[in-house]
Amino acid sequence: RYDVLIVGAGHAGAQAAIALRQRMFDGSIALLGDEPYPPYERPPLSKDYLARDKKFERILIRPEAFWAERDIALLPGRHIVSVDPIAHRVMAGDGEVISYGTLIWATGGSPRRLACDGHDVRGVHSVRHRDDVDRMIAELDGVASVVVIGGGYIGLEAAAVLTKLGKRVTVLEAQDRVLSRVAGEPLSRFFEDEHRRHGVTVRLGVAVDRIEASNSAVAGVRLGDGETLACEMVIVGIGIVPAVEPLLQAGAAGGNGVLVDAQCRTTLPDTFAIGDCAAHANAFADDVVIRLESVQNANDQAMVVAKALTGLAEDYAAVPWFWSNQYDLKLQTVGLSMGHDRIVVRGDPADRSFSLVYLRAGRVVALDCVNAVKDYVQGRALVVARAAIDPARLADPAVPLKELAV
Ligand code: FAD
Repeated sequence: RYDVLIVGAGHAGAQAAIALRQRMFDGSIALLGDEPYPPYERPPLSKDYLARDKKFERILIRPEAFWAERDIALLPGRHIVSVDPIAHRVMAGDGEVISYGTLIWATGGSPRRLACDGHDVRGVHSVRHRDDVDRMIAELDGVASVVVIGGGYIGLEAAAVLTKLGKRVTVLEAQDRVLSRVAGEPLSRFFEDEHRRHGVTVRLGVAVDRIEASNSAVAGVRLGDGETLACEMVIVGIGIVPAVEPLLQAGAAGGNGVLVDAQCRTTLPDTFAIGDCAAHANAFADDVVIRLESVQNANDQAMVVAKALTGLAEDYAAVPWFWSNQYDLKLQTVGLSMGHDRIVVRGDPADRSFSLVYLRAGRVVALDCVNAVKDYVQGRALVVARAAIDPARLADPAVPLKELAV
């Protein structure tokens, strides 16, 4: 029996264990996960790790010895299939039963699969786990052409890396612009242009009919209009499905993620949920219930739970932030742009350094900053204050954002 059992040894789970010890929690802690590795950072998987610029040891969240030093039991290689919230125990796929005092569910999500024929042939990859990327890297030598399905951040980052590695890359996006779910049109158009400039073929508004195979390996992608794009590798980046089935089956409220309150408690006794799998009312989304898929959210929710378990009840109210690296472009975003009714472009995208300021009812709700670290750092205060600022001044890059904050 562990006083605290954390299921899912990714960003949120690892940070919860770290934060509990930082806050002098002296009960027993186990950090259980289904991957065979100690906790590692996921963002490099579509960036430096895929590019082979960083070795695995350099993306560990903590050096391997850390966990034993802090008396945190690592239980890798176990996939939890059921939860008994009354008896306070979980069961792994091989039948192992583990009891807990408090359960922290931090399982992230599984990559959404294509529903079409050929979705599972050799050479079709998702990018979520180290093993996914190792498999891709092992195949790369024999690959000339790659089709990336999905123009979200992960797909675009992978496209940038593979182009730099000399592959012919095509990005297929079902919507009429990339990043449509997360960013405003000027940012989408900027990234589409950048990718094209680097030689990527970006195709918008296309449907995938099926994956063509030859000798049970990928040979091409057939589009809705019958055209077939020949390729030897397909990367699917179409989002995740939160890994919450065992909790929902145990009776937890939720659906798209497990529902948590302001301190990340689920509706089950002594059970918290954090990170990508936690559906919470976010203050920066007008308290609409959402899931955030970011390192920021994973870490900050982990801290909220560590505080709750060490006697400091504090609601989750952290400012959302996120980043993406493509080519030599560093995108940093702060706030949540959903529901915006106006976008102010600050600077000229042609200079490859600019920001988008998102407004809702005249107030700043988010910024997307491309190679514009100052705007990102200074814009945060505007988001926190929901500042009402004259768009003409926001649009003038000669006026530092910190001057507008007062
Ligand atoms: P995860 O880190 O996914 O950890 C969950 C762990 O639980 C996994 O190891 C999973 O295998 C395991 N698990 C699942 N189900 C079970 C079960 N039933 N039993 C046991 N174990 C289980 N965010 C940013 O902010 N910036 C970025 O640039 C960025 N880039 C990204 C690039 C990629 C390729 C990916 C995949 C994600 C990126 N993200 C980025 C998102 C960020 O990595 C996630 O938001 C973060 O990892 C969420 O942490 P988590 O702990 O909730 O989930």
